[in-house]
Amino acid sequence: MDLSPRAPHGRLDPYVERYAARTAGMTASEIRALFAVASRPEVVSLAGGMPNISGLPLDVVGGAIAELVAMQGPVAMQYGSGQGVPELREQITEVMRLEGIEAHPDDVVVTVGSQQAVDLVTRVFCDPGDVVICEAPSYVGALGVFKAYQCEVVHAEMDADGLVPDALRQAIASVKAAGKTLKFLYTIPNFHNPAGVTLAAERRAEILDICRSEDLLILEDNPYGLLGFDGEPLRALRADEAEGVIYLGSFSKTFAPGFRVGWALAPHMVREKLVLAQESATLCPPQFSQMAVSAYLSNHDWQGQIKQFREMYRERRDAMVEALHDMMPASCRWNVPDGGFYVWLSLPPGIDAKAMLPRAVTARVAYVPGTAFFADGFGSGAMRLSFCYPTPERIREGVRRLAGVIEAEMELRATFGASAPARELGYQTYDGPSTDLS
Ligand code: PMP
Repeated sequence: MDLSPRAPHGRLDPYVERYAARTAGMTASEIRALFAVASRPEVVSLAGGMPNISGLPLDVVGGAIAELVAMQGPVAMQYGSGQGVPELREQITEVMRLEGIEAHPDDVVVTVGSQQAVDLVTRVFCDPGDVVICEAPSYVGALGVFKAYQCEVVHAEMDADGLVPDALRQAIASVKAAGKTLKFLYTIPNFHNPAGVTLAAERRAEILDICRSEDLLILEDNPYGLLGFDGEPLRALRADEAEGVIYLGSFSKTFAPGFRVGWALAPHMVREKLVLAQESATLCPPQFSQMAVSAYLSNHDWQGQIKQFREMYRERRDAMVEALHDMMPASCRWNVPDGGFYVWLSLPPGIDAKAMLPRAVTARVAYVPGTAFFADGFGSGAMRLSFCYPTPERIREGVRRLAGVIEAEMELRATFGASAPARELGYQTYDGPSTDLS
């Protein structure tokens, strides 16, 4: 099975000598073909990070869009400002207020999802060889951006309370000792993708202090912050530090990802650069999408909708955690997330999540191996399990299948050790698009 990105369908790429050096970092995941298989209906995918938007009131959204076309069609379908629609930027400041952020709409830049915000910030700050500190593990889509801009990623450990302050200090010291240029800390404080953990409230001030004293910029990526299962949203890092933090938000998880509307809140001078970068990338973020999101926020109880999402995701989290508790071998470890979409599961010693994936897919269950979330090849003994999309019954069935695969793998290791025979995938794979790594 050849999964080489340069040779899809067995063909060689005739352009290979002509690509820019930076494309060396733009490689399709070697597990991508398996994810294409994982989207077959008989496979329970615990791999995908797609928000479950089946509860959205389509009639309300449809009505708002019809009205938008009828009342403001020529504006909505026109080019717009590179910074984004003013009314939406105003509404975004209200969304951020829920996490303690007081901001001016002038400092908000609307982006094509927060994914594009990660890209623009990296474009503005990073030259090849510059270092970005990321949590271990970190969001695969951000690692892809850093790689594409030829940055070096240094990982800093997390524990059950999120990023460990001492690990951050050590990471900073190691970059300095190596004489490299450190550009920013990329962090996901709430309901981490993929680790599921949240930066403890009492740790936030310490992380801010370290970054202040080291003059290190923070890129705070927060798409899940309003999806906590209990209590009030936690205070954003940006709420207590306006100058040293670029905050990223998104409507992908609180409304719908198809509009591709996210944003960056940045210190004033940085905001200017981001707008210029946005203009060269897209001229302007899509006006129609922004106005549709704005109409939804004005005409609908969006906070009530988020509450419904939270309840739905909580039910799925409970189903997954209960199933793991009931069925997983005793030597597996996992965390119980307080929000978001993900559980991080550590396998018994000696079991490699990537090597096991073909067997899992053959057993009709899929996950993302931990190595996808590290820039340095670590994470082979862990996996990300998503509970956001399947129904509670399917989650339980998926965990049952996965437990069986892990048990069989443990037996195989016990009998053959590290030289356990490889088994071919029972399915034909194909090279297709996949959103399962989101
Ligand atoms: N950051 C994190 C941590 C994510 O999990 C995701 C999507 N899964 C994104 C950014 C990008 O989301 P979007 O572009 O849809 O806003």
